Amino acid sequence: MITSKDRAHALLSASASERWICCPPSVRLEEQFPESTSVYAEEGTLAHEICELKLRKIFVEPGMTDRTFNTRLNKLKKHELYKPEMLRFTDEYVDYIKEIAYSYPSAPSVAVEKRVTYGHIARDGFGTADCIILYGNEIHVIDFKYGTGVPVSAERNPQLSLYAAGAIAAYSMIYPIQKVTLHVIQPRLHNFSKWSTTIAALQEWEKLVKERADLAWEGKGEFNQGKWCTFCKAAATCRHRMEENISLENCTTTDKDSEKVLYPVPPLISNEEVGQILERAQQLASWVKKLERYALDTLLRGEAVPGWKLVEGRSNRTIIDIDTAFTKLQEAGYKEAVLYNRIPISLTEVEKLISKEDYTEILSRYVQKPKGKPTLALESDKRPVYQAAVSAEEAFGGCNTFLKEENL
Ligand code: SF4
Repeated sequence: MITSKDRAHALLSASASERWICCPPSVRLEEQFPESTSVYAEEGTLAHEICELKLRKIFVEPGMTDRTFNTRLNKLKKHELYKPEMLRFTDEYVDYIKEIAYSYPSAPSVAVEKRVTYGHIARDGFGTADCIILYGNEIHVIDFKYGTGVPVSAERNPQLSLYAAGAIAAYSMIYPIQKVTLHVIQPRLHNFSKWSTTIAALQEWEKLVKERADLAWEGKGEFNQGKWCTFCKAAATCRHRMEENISLENCTTTDKDSEKVLYPVPPLISNEEVGQILERAQQLASWVKKLERYALDTLLRGEAVPGWKLVEGRSNRTIIDIDTAFTKLQEAGYKEAVLYNRIPISLTEVEKLISKEDYTEILSRYVQKPKGKPTLALESDKRPVYQAAVSAEEAFGGCNTFLKEENL
């Protein structure tokens, strides 16, 4: 079984491929920073290990006894980051894979936590695909994501495309692969994304990526700021990012001095300019957040950031021993009813508490999802455009006059 220690990353890793494809010099720039991990990454690794165990029992070691399975699972449950809901979320991933595997007339080949190499595209490139299913001329590359940050799309996903390229290189002697399907399973966000392409389209993409990978390996190419900066180790102190963000005033198309002289600009900005500024301001806001975190960490280490210091933040008063304090208040004559609120737990907490079956049979009929408030999003956002909810009355002017006339 692959453990967190085995999950080494290539310099041109598949998980960071969106970044090095879009900003090739970031790879060598990142080398100046120490390796780091987060509690979320550790949690994700543990959830992956549970997924792997479950899939191995079904597809790789069908002879695994329940006793062996439970012993291995119990070992994982002892991890300090283990939470009971992990079993349900990993079940959703396993069910999804079973659905694909059982959709074929005979048993497909299922590889779990498969190490794939894509050195023919990116030098020394390798990674671990969570699950690969092969049947006839089809390949499925499935990725489990335990995070809850943002929903990840399978469409043109570079990480999965690199895994697919590696798997095709390894299996094409045995399987005449033509159709490639990428899947992202992100159960905590109810995100099940799927995208299919052909081997010819994938090979075209590989050519472009190879060019970027060569540049990245050599530390060449253009710096390029974008959403991929979020996970770049240089996200706070990257000079290119700083220059892009502090030149925010130059982001609109009406900024040329000569134009201002010949054609005086109007005192109010246009909607087009609002769109352009907001797009750039998103990057600015994300960069400032990183910069604040960086300055805080620097000051906490005892180093100076000229013009800034650490102060004590706001804090709220708390009762240190609430049970004893409230008992004393009740002894003094205050009624329990006025001291306590009876509040039901949230739907998310109920979901963690009850089984999938009880959710479906008992609770689901009482759950409704109201229409979300209109939210600003970039044109490239995958969600459909907001449709204002209008009642039939609002839409058709209050009453059905046609019907009235018919009844006359
Ligand atoms: S912060 Fe962004 S622009 Fe700078 S190196 Fe990293 S990915 Fe490139």
